[in-house]
Amino acid sequence: MGAGAPPVDLRSDTVTRPTPAMREAMARAVVGDDVFGDDPTVRKLEARTAALFGLEAGLYFPSGTQSNLAALMAHCGRGEEVILGQDAHTYRYEGGGAAVLGSIQPQPLANLPDGTLDLAQVEAAIKPDDPHFAVTRLLALENTIGGKVIGRDYLARAMTLAWKRGLSTHLDGARIFNASVKLGMPVKLLCAGFDTVSVCLSKGLGAPMGTVLVGHQGLVDRARRIRKMLGGGLRQAGIVAAAGLHALEHHVDRLADDHANAARLAQGLAGAGYAVDPVQTNMVFVRVAPERCAALQAHLAGEGVTAIVSPRTRLVTHLDVDAAGVDRAVAAFAGFGAAAA
Ligand SMILES: *Cc1c(COP(=O)(O)O)cnc(C)c1O
Repeated sequence: MGAGAPPVDLRSDTVTRPTPAMREAMARAVVGDDVFGDDPTVRKLEARTAALFGLEAGLYFPSGTQSNLAALMAHCGRGEEVILGQDAHTYRYEGGGAAVLGSIQPQPLANLPDGTLDLAQVEAAIKPDDPHFAVTRLLALENTIGGKVIGRDYLARAMTLAWKRGLSTHLDGARIFNASVKLGMPVKLLCAGFDTVSVCLSKGLGAPMGTVLVGHQGLVDRARRIRKMLGGGLRQAGIVAAAGLHALEHHVDRLADDHANAARLAQGLAGAGYAVDPVQTNMVFVRVAPERCAALQAHLAGEGVTAIVSPRTRLVTHLDVDAAGVDRAVAAFAGFGAAAA
């Protein structure tokens, strides 16, 4: 610890750098022009991801935001409606893109403390067939959400409701492998019934960029047109898709290490007197008194720990944080003191 040790960056699982083995896979990638459908590495990544989810087709996107947007636009026409959570990334953290670029009307519902939507509320939010109302087209869920895992029982009930009421379904699965590893359940089973799933490679999986949208062929075909329109058609993208393939091969099972490190971090912080929410996957939420946030963030930076400190501070473990890094972070928090935190 101390001088010379690399900083422990707990801001997000997006901050990982490609491993040497991943860079080698990227250097070796066979590429072509993917807008012409000529990049074998991209095609392999798309097919492999689709197969993992038991869905027909996959489509590689530069970002999860663009993948979610293209999916919503593939499901919903102008003026149609998506039911989703107030806390959903696609509602809250994507610049309102579905409304701005897709002319899609969001119908947000409060997320319950476990991250789910109350299915009675979902049902009540489905608009009757009446010209006064937008056509309710889509139910969009997220798993994990705020680090919380949504289990198969709930998802099966949600899928049944959507099927009964003729809604299509989209899952923002930016961290779906965290849920899968936590539950010990293959993604194919966990996500059964969804028409589309957006799967980020650049979060816990540690690729430098990229998201694969998987789904039924017709929806993916529509999403391909939309991706081009949004400027997401890439050329020799096999260079980065190779990192995604490497990640699917080598970085899924190890998400359990991130979960163990998050649990270790939570336990250490609780031991130092901080109020910490229960941890399920790779996110730890810590309470900090509002007036101490700026000072704590500066103190941590001085100790080589990078965090965005807020009254509900989110700390995220990932590929580039090991148990020693966690212990260093705990020591830095402990050194500041939890008084009035
Ligand atoms: C990160 C994330 C996305 C997509 O983010 P990009 O930064 O655009 O790749 C989508 N949904 C969730 C839940 C996310 O965490």
